[in-house]
Amino acid sequence: MNKIKKLINERDINRRVKEISETLYDEYKDEEVVFICTLKGAVFFACDLLKKYKGDVRIEFLRVSSYSGKDSTGKIELNLSISKENIENKNVIILEDIVDTGTTLKFLKEYIGDMKPKSLIIVSLLDKKERRKVDIEADIVGFEIEDLFVVGYGLDYDQKYRNLPYIGVIE
Ligand code: 5GP
Repeated sequence: MNKIKKLINERDINRRVKEISETLYDEYKDEEVVFICTLKGAVFFACDLLKKYKGDVRIEFLRVSSYSGKDSTGKIELNLSISKENIENKNVIILEDIVDTGTTLKFLKEYIGDMKPKSLIIVSLLDKKERRKVDIEADIVGFEIEDLFVVGYGLDYDQKYRNLPYIGVIE
């Protein structure tokens, strides 16, 4: 395994994830919420956030890909979809790992938006604002980071490093 330089430690991630979970609960309280976890990158974020969420939830998974190695191909592929009946007239929260160029986010917003949810917001653990090519923002962001290729806490480099409990950069 290559050496990884820590960028965001486990304690800071836990604290921020708890904060986001509480913010969302304050917003939705007694209403049922459908959380969509985007695979595979957001899986650790989604698990930790949902364990801390106090309200009623349903969980769905969506799999999209646009990256090969450290480069975005710019082309979104949908590898696992969701049926409309699970989204229509529901409060939906998409959980993303990172917003980079914004291409994936735009695709997700349109894809789920077309299924007519009652409400729709996007929560991303990380945001690389500098890299944006599409004019789109997540509604809630965990951490804004500089233009670095990060791994850990669900994020991979060619499928490796997802299991690191922190977020770091390959040295
Ligand atoms: P976008 O469509 O915004 O360019 O890219 C979003 C997707 O690219 C993310 O969901 C993630 O899978 C991948 N991605 C973007 N930046 C990084 C990064 O720094 N590290 C890793 N591991 N994946 C990234």
